[in-house]
Amino acid sequence: MGKQTTNEVITIDLNSPIITVPAGIDVKIIPRKQPEPKITFADQGELNAYLADYQRLLFLEDWIIRAQVKDAEDGVAASICPEPALNRAEITINAKYHNYPETWSQRITRYCVEQFLVHELLHLQIGCEPGQEQLVEKMSKSIIMIRYSLPFSWFKNPAEVRNE
Ligand SMILES: [Zn+2]
Repeated sequence: MGKQTTNEVITIDLNSPIITVPAGIDVKIIPRKQPEPKITFADQGELNAYLADYQRLLFLEDWIIRAQVKDAEDGVAASICPEPALNRAEITINAKYHNYPETWSQRITRYCVEQFLVHELLHLQIGCEPGQEQLVEKMSKSIIMIRYSLPFSWFKNPAEVRNE
């Protein structure tokens, strides 16, 4: 057997917990960037795409839902106005916060418009009574945590975490 040092193929299985590399070969592995939840929507088209995706995932495709970023009541990041008899609903994402990141540092939790969208949509499945708010909020966080492999602590306001 002669020396075969050229065109050697090294297979690296990223699923394996142990990666063995022949001596003398340097390997640099750059992990694939993890997708992250949307903090804000770039435009109406992006909002519509996320809305359609979550309507599918949350079994809400028989609803006609309009979602918009526009000025709303102070202190409310997002809200939903459902008309169950007509299977239609309007979601408002408050532009006063969505468009002004400088307001986010005052929040207790992280500003994340994707979680707000999921929260508002869950109201259509769970209900809008005050007693259902906690479940809706928990389930919206669970969906984001599962979809993006995030810990619950991700929802802490990053500005607050820096001050700890
Ligand atoms: Zn709510």
